[in-house]
Amino acid sequence: MTPEDLKGKVQTVTGLVDPATLGPTLMHEHLFIDLNPPAFRCSDLPEGVSDAAIDLCNCFRAAYGQGHFTDNYRIDDFAVVKAEIEEMYRAGGRTVVDLTVGGLGPRPLLLRRMAEETQVALVMGCGHYVEEYQLAETAGMTVDQLAAQITGQILDGAWGTDVRAGIIGEIGCQSPWTDREKRVMDGAVEAMKATGAALNVHPGREATQPQEVADYVRARGGRMERLILSHIDRTIFDEDILFRLADTGCMIEYDLFGWETSYYWPNPGIDLPNDAVRVQWLRKLVERGHLDQILISHDICTKGRLERFGGHGFQHIFANVVPLLLRRDFDQAEVDRILVANPARLLTFH
Ligand SMILES: [Zn+2]
Repeated sequence: MTPEDLKGKVQTVTGLVDPATLGPTLMHEHLFIDLNPPAFRCSDLPEGVSDAAIDLCNCFRAAYGQGHFTDNYRIDDFAVVKAEIEEMYRAGGRTVVDLTVGGLGPRPLLLRRMAEETQVALVMGCGHYVEEYQLAETAGMTVDQLAAQITGQILDGAWGTDVRAGIIGEIGCQSPWTDREKRVMDGAVEAMKATGAALNVHPGREATQPQEVADYVRARGGRMERLILSHIDRTIFDEDILFRLADTGCMIEYDLFGWETSYYWPNPGIDLPNDAVRVQWLRKLVERGHLDQILISHDICTKGRLERFGGHGFQHIFANVVPLLLRRDFDQAEVDRILVANPARLLTFH
């Protein structure tokens, strides 16, 4: 594959497609993932960490941070995920972007099999997550090597397979942002310029970090309208900070839809909003003229968020959030821009 072949197309795990075929799209999900910190991926678990299976008797505890359940942070059962993807299809979803990158246990061959066995198109991300999760190999890699690796994941195939990525990210950043994470970002921006792919970023959990990332990417020649800042619903709670970020022209992603508890285990200092409050923030952005910069998703990354373990599943946005948007001043044309037009534009190689 060459960058020329990709222009004007979307690259799914089963090949190139016309952007007009995508339909309603979830831009930030994880079909398969191991989100356990590397220290918890062993049998010798520290105090307070349980390897009990997630079920209906402990799913609330797991979601509310009553102990760390390693099983909750691992999604690896093909049949379970297939059933949930089929539920999503029945609710109206047609395309899913899986951003399980280096350090989170990417499964390119399982994604391809899922796309072949369902009617859902899948687009895979590439690159690396935050430093604690990054494979040992990134420690000694130069920016040029990282850029070549990420570019190769798009043009040739990722993680030892011939399955090609269709977007870069989620690229992991923290506050404070580490040198190693910045090197990965430098490589990602170079790969973005070389291939024409969009770049999705997992920013650190300080309100000003998305802006820091946007300024950094712009200074290196990355196109703002091709940059997606994820997880804004857990990061920015201030209008001025949000609108300043939106004024850069970057994409603003509210991607924790369905996470209805206020408890946010990655940082208990943050009070997570519920879906109603997320929709209020989206409306503020639309009223200020930022409709074409909005993306939404669930970022499913724990078992407890799947329907079979007491959660909302991949179907939630189509079954529940779209009706909520329509009850809260959005019209169908606006919903289609957010769920169809904006994703298709971002996933099209430029
Ligand atoms: Zn994610």
